[in-house]
Amino acid sequence: MAAAATFLRPSAHTALAGVWLFVWLLWAAPAPADPLPVFEVAPGVFVHAGRHEETDATNAGDIANCGFIVGDDAIAVIDSGGSPVVGHRLREAIRLRTDRPIRYVVNTHMHPDHMLGNVAFLPDQPDFVAHGNLQAALAARGEHYRQAFDAAVGAAAAEIRIIPPTLAVSDRLELDLGGRVLDLVAWPVAHTDNDLTVLDRQTKTLWAGDLLFMERAPAIDGSVLGWLRTLDALAAELAARVVPGHGPPSAPWPDAAADLRRYLSRVVEGVRKVQAAHGTIQQAVETVAAEEAPRWRLFESYNPRNVTAAFAELEWE
Ligand SMILES: [Zn+2]
Repeated sequence: MAAAATFLRPSAHTALAGVWLFVWLLWAAPAPADPLPVFEVAPGVFVHAGRHEETDATNAGDIANCGFIVGDDAIAVIDSGGSPVVGHRLREAIRLRTDRPIRYVVNTHMHPDHMLGNVAFLPDQPDFVAHGNLQAALAARGEHYRQAFDAAVGAAAAEIRIIPPTLAVSDRLELDLGGRVLDLVAWPVAHTDNDLTVLDRQTKTLWAGDLLFMERAPAIDGSVLGWLRTLDALAAELAARVVPGHGPPSAPWPDAAADLRRYLSRVVEGVRKVQAAHGTIQQAVETVAAEEAPRWRLFESYNPRNVTAAFAELEWE
């Protein structure tokens, strides 16, 4: 028995050392990011659905839709997620499916939940494509976004970098991915002053960014009247489906915009009514669009801000 024990001991040590070496290698090697789950909503069009939450340490900014389109020669990422972590996970989801080069990272607008993942794509040296107004908007807000993200997420924010666009769209732009053309349109002030949409000609998939919110309460950070006008113009777009900025990964177009249009119209009508009666902004915040509350997630966080923004906009009519 003793002989057997002395015989076993070195071998046990060796095994233990092997286990430790393995653990050390796992620890020392850069952890591969866990790929984001994505839906193929049309051939070659992949969407990840973000959660209807505010950014926090648990969701790491995974609160908006993002995804990618695969051409014969190259990939375009459409929105990069709300943090570097989400960006890395989106990149892993792409690499699971194809090794074609990631040539474009398109940001549908400046909000951090749609572009803080840009940094994950720097090694691909893509063009970062955005509305012509986005750079100026980022110059004004970028540092605030960084600080807000740090406060919401904590330590995970270490890698946060605001990556500005390298290719600006002032009106329209075509991106050719090889056998597949994307039509980009830069819109007048609506959700923000830098909203950009992407239409995949091949599958008639319209990527609306935050010009379309579904389920989650929208945020008016541009012009409520401009947003309604833009929705009218977008409704004429002959799309087979739409990818909203927030909501299901794919929805029928233009029916998918009905809830948003109704909400924005109620905000306009309600604010006008309060103003016609010489009511205060506080009265407007307490009453306008209140009937919409059960229809939207996070309504209490966004409706007061929306009514306040609309009040300022409509006061000068
Ligand atoms: Zn937004």
